[in-house]
Amino acid sequence: MVVTHRHAPALIALALGALGAIASVGTAAGASIARSNLILEYDGISEAQSRAFADEAQRAYRDVARYFGRRDERTILILVGDRYDVPTAYHERATITLGANRIRGDAGFGRFAGLGPSIVHEITHLVAPSRGKDNQFLDEGLAVFVQEKFKRPDDRSFPNMGRDLHQETLRWARDHGRLIPLAEADPSRGRAGGSRPLIYLQGGSFVRYLVETYGLASFMTMYEGQSYQAVYGKDLAALEGEWKKFLDGIELD
Ligand SMILES: [Zn+2]
Repeated sequence: MVVTHRHAPALIALALGALGAIASVGTAAGASIARSNLILEYDGISEAQSRAFADEAQRAYRDVARYFGRRDERTILILVGDRYDVPTAYHERATITLGANRIRGDAGFGRFAGLGPSIVHEITHLVAPSRGKDNQFLDEGLAVFVQEKFKRPDDRSFPNMGRDLHQETLRWARDHGRLIPLAEADPSRGRAGGSRPLIYLQGGSFVRYLVETYGLASFMTMYEGQSYQAVYGKDLAALEGEWKKFLDGIELD
């Protein structure tokens, strides 16, 4: 499967200490537009496109803030231009970058196709970052889960392309030959070709399973620093076993 909506994990650059990679984030966009929680600086898209996208991003921010019952008190800066590529979030700077072609609709991206959910995903990284986890699959899993939660009917965003998260995980696992053990499914190490979508899908599916089985509050307590054992009375291996059993019970469409 050709993945047309690749997604750059928000925290990779930071995790690798590659701050230099975003040194050019700066500003330098041609024009800007403000909404209550964000500023969009843009280049390479029309004013009308910038207005529509700023509205979409503001809506996404409201959805995410309401879901988590919290706000990012900072004004989020969204930079759109041809120098940027896949949607990427930089938590420490409250900044999201995004290629202008994604909004223009050229380069194979339908105009706005999947962009709303992609922005939900990136804003989730800003509003709900994990604390002190060495494996980013939970960060990506939470963002993918929330992205699915607020998907629109025409959603075709990476990684589930608008399809059911559990179903798509099963489909990719079948093609891949197996589920990847969660302890090995770190998105920051998962750049290698075919397994990358599966790592994101598994993260999303696992987080969705935990949230829907045990609740969001428990999940956030663990996500923000407590151990699995302390919160769930089970370690990751036990929870992973439960989740796999749950997936086994799902019929593929
Ligand atoms: Zn992400």
